[in-house]
Amino acid sequence: MANYKKLLIAVDLSEDSPEVAERARGLAEGSGAELHLIHVIEPLSFAYGGDIPMDFSGIQDEIHQQATQQLAKFGETWKIPANRQYIVLGRPEVEIHEKAEEIGADLIVVGSHGRYGLALLMGSTANGVLHGASCDVLAVRVGS
Ligand code: AMP
Repeated sequence: MANYKKLLIAVDLSEDSPEVAERARGLAEGSGAELHLIHVIEPLSFAYGGDIPMDFSGIQDEIHQQATQQLAKFGETWKIPANRQYIVLGRPEVEIHEKAEEIGADLIVVGSHGRYGLALLMGSTANGVLHGASCDVLAVRVGS
């Protein structure tokens, strides 16, 4: 198996995230690969539509601040330095692809739930990341 040099770990900051980081760390150990961490914040306007006459900026700033703190804590736990932690605003799959290309990652590591039925039809972030990625993608089975 190829020795990966730069791993981008995508985390939703849920209770599943440590499992994803653990697997990435296992892969990086020994090979000396760099670990990078990304969390994407979806703008509230995506969920509620752009034409609602409401100013979300205060709430959005609050979410951003909290996510930054959570990611910093997570990065500290997994010994990933601050300059390799990224908080980005947008659609997770799009931003994860862009960041992977920007930093020259050779592996993206995401969590994947064993979905079925309607949830499977609706797709998942892991699925979205897999399609169109310009490097390898590892989907770690989480939440079993
Ligand atoms: P999902 O299938 O949407 O529940 O997400 C599965 C995996 O996609 C998570 O374990 C993360 O690896 C990744 N993911 C989901 N949402 C985000 C997000 N907002 N930012 C970064 N990664 C995410």
